[in-house]
Amino acid sequence: MSKKDSCIIVGAGIAGLMAAERLRMYDFEVTILEKSRGFGGRMAVKNIGDAIFDAGAQFMTTRELSFRQNVEAWLEQGLVQQWYIGPLRNMRYVGVEGMTSVPKELGRTMNVRLSEKVAHVERRGSGWKVTTLPYGSEEATTYEADWLILTPPVPQSLALLDESGIELDYDEEVELKRIQYLRCLTVMAVLNGPAGIANPGAMDLNHDILRWIGDNAVKGVSPVPGTVTIHSSPKFAKAYWDKPEEERIAVMCAAAKPFLKGEVTEAISHRWGMSDPVRVYKEKQPFRKPFFLDEDLQLGMAGDGFNGPRIEAAAVSGRELASAITTPA
Ligand SMILES: Cc1cc2nc3c(=O)[nH]c(=O)nc-3n(C[C@H](O)[C@H](O)[C@H](O)COP(=O)(O)OP(=O)(O)OC[C@H]3O[C@@H](n4cnc5c(N)ncnc54)[C@H](O)[C@@H]3O)c2cc1C
Repeated sequence: MSKKDSCIIVGAGIAGLMAAERLRMYDFEVTILEKSRGFGGRMAVKNIGDAIFDAGAQFMTTRELSFRQNVEAWLEQGLVQQWYIGPLRNMRYVGVEGMTSVPKELGRTMNVRLSEKVAHVERRGSGWKVTTLPYGSEEATTYEADWLILTPPVPQSLALLDESGIELDYDEEVELKRIQYLRCLTVMAVLNGPAGIANPGAMDLNHDILRWIGDNAVKGVSPVPGTVTIHSSPKFAKAYWDKPEEERIAVMCAAAKPFLKGEVTEAISHRWGMSDPVRVYKEKQPFRKPFFLDEDLQLGMAGDGFNGPRIEAAAVSGRELASAITTPA
């Protein structure tokens, strides 16, 4: 029996998981290495007691037919539900237990090593040797595979390749270095009663400090009334990035107060260093693929940085990269 093709995927966000799903359909042996404790990357959920917050992405849309088919399947499986129709007349879908519902299910039967940060990658014969630092352990772990796919935000993937001494084609590297991301500060607050945000419980804001306020209770994610996620504007995130957490929370809660009924009783915050890409690989390049692939190196990169600042775009990027690997030109 011939040896199976194998692939290591760095990152268990939606791009990595969709790539893994497609590779497995083609009988690849796939190992996903993820530095966090859970699945989903920027589709993250946090808790304060019983209150459940979508901490990063708030909803997903379906502009492309292939992704709409995925979402329809997830609807049937009871993983996602419709939320409301947004300003661009797209239905906004949410995970039934928060945005991690889909990533958790996708990753459930996969070979995923959580809490393992990839620290070094090395060409080994025609394949790859990958070294991780498992969380809380002094000892490095190594993995080997024919192919390597990187799905962290592009500057992080490039830093990993650079620190590992892997050289890319010069022109490609210049293009990849142009992919930059915004920052976002997020406050998750529990109120002393319902937030009072009218259905659907969310506000897209064009405000100096705030970009979004969403009530996870009205959304159907949190059992606790007044479970509010507040995202900052990129401008505010830049200005307040290094301020103490209490100060960030106080200023953002004060800015949100006029939009809310209840008083904040407890709050936590999160700093997203790379929330959404402002310039993506495919930008103004209609003939460029929504991923990076170097067939000689057997190296691919995927994620929202290649295709657009949305869950859908990241998912399509991962899946199309895997398709390109399984059906070489
Ligand atoms: C605040 C915020 C709000 C957003 N709102 C929306 C929204 O409402 N709708 C929408 O469609 N999109 C939204 N987005 C964007 C959306 O979340 C992303 O486009 C999408 O989730 C990106 O998926 P990805 O797989 O490309 O990357 P990620 O989700 O970032 O996954 C990359 C993974 O790689 C892991 N990783 C990184 N480095 C290493 C390493 N060295 N070793 C191992 N693992 C590593 C990370 O931990 C992460 O899990 C939002 C994002 C943020 C931050």
